[in-house]
Amino acid sequence: MTIAIVGAGLGGLALARVLHVHGVEPVVYERDASREARRQGGMLDIHSGQRALREAGLLERFLAIARAEGQDMRLLEPDGTLLLQEDTPDDAPALRPEIDRTDLRNLLLDALPAGTVRWGRAFDHAEDGVLHFADGSTERHDLLVGADGANSRVRPLLTDARPAHLGQNVVELCIPDIDRAHPDLAAMVGRGNYWVLGDGKSLAAQRNGDGCVRIGLSFYNTGEDWFARSGIPFEDPAAARARLIELYDGWDARFTALIAAADDTVVPRSLTALPPGLTWPTNPTITLVGDAAHLMPPVGEGANMALLDGAVLGLALAEHRDDFGAAVAEYEQEMFERTAAAARMSADIQELLMSPDASRRMLEFFQPS
Ligand SMILES: Cc1cc2nc3c(=O)[nH]c(=O)nc-3n(C[C@H](O)[C@H](O)[C@H](O)COP(=O)(O)OP(=O)(O)OC[C@H]3O[C@@H](n4cnc5c(N)ncnc54)[C@H](O)[C@@H]3O)c2cc1C
Repeated sequence: MTIAIVGAGLGGLALARVLHVHGVEPVVYERDASREARRQGGMLDIHSGQRALREAGLLERFLAIARAEGQDMRLLEPDGTLLLQEDTPDDAPALRPEIDRTDLRNLLLDALPAGTVRWGRAFDHAEDGVLHFADGSTERHDLLVGADGANSRVRPLLTDARPAHLGQNVVELCIPDIDRAHPDLAAMVGRGNYWVLGDGKSLAAQRNGDGCVRIGLSFYNTGEDWFARSGIPFEDPAAARARLIELYDGWDARFTALIAAADDTVVPRSLTALPPGLTWPTNPTITLVGDAAHLMPPVGEGANMALLDGAVLGLALAEHRDDFGAAVAEYEQEMFERTAAAARMSADIQELLMSPDASRRMLEFFQPS
């Protein structure tokens, strides 16, 4: 019986690894040509997902490369007022350590037998137990697992639901080698997360494992067409930075200095999410894990849920290896309940971030009276 996983992201790889640990060898079809084909993005805060890494036999290796000090947090207002500073003591437990997304993906990839991931295979559609790929090739399978992320092509086989725009548009910037190039800004951002929340806008800076600081500039209550109307010339990075500084007019000069110090990587990202609590009638031959199943606002749950999905489905398939339908039903029951709670919590935090008094509400969130 063949298990075909579409997508070598965190969900698909966690599933493949847990199956491998239990002596079941799936095949993972990945659209990218290689593991290095695309930059994987910034840091991930891994908390509940540690349970999945334990099931995958990788928790110790994870803790050895994760950054506990990445849990540090500073919360400020646009005029520069520091509302909250939390520094992680050296002996603090690594409850929510940060890890570079590339490092976590490599940890999972390196723990799979060679050949498990078939690179350069973009899934197009499935028909009568046959997968069809963009290059015209086909493969047979008994169970299809869509682990193909936010814009999943497997999802429409189970539900008509589509991600909807969240009313948030983000511009991502990067300051490479910040300790050497801008030591003053490096000290200001610190070892972890640095958040400035304003009315309708925010600036989030975060130190990454490779010495760069990534910055996310968020514009709230903005529509899907906002980038086209924003006047940000993405094709000219210097002019784009100048326009972004203009958009942050009135903010403390230390914050706009972060924008000015960024390199020429200026990436627009339009945020979407699926409806919280999405379900579908169980199909014994197809299921979904990760963002394909429950894309939610990016406030720190998605990767954890994707890892847990992979582990829970892997354990169910290992237990019911002659009855994939029973395994899928067991997995989906647990997954629907767990991820609905995470999606609702993420939607609440998203609502908080989009509110006019976001900084005060966030302070209350971290320091309830
Ligand atoms: C800016 C940002 C910050 C975030 N920070 C956090 C955080 O701190 N903590 C947290 O828990 N979550 C975070 N998230 C969410 C997290 O990144 C996602 O929830 C998680 O990566 C989902 O994993 P996945 O395996 O479902 O999908 P992905 O990681 O998107 O992987 C999908 C894979 O499928 C492949 N693929 C797509 N289509 C096809 C196809 N047709 N055929 C074959 N392969 C295909 C893709 O190339 C990709 O490799 C963040 C998200 C964003 C945008």
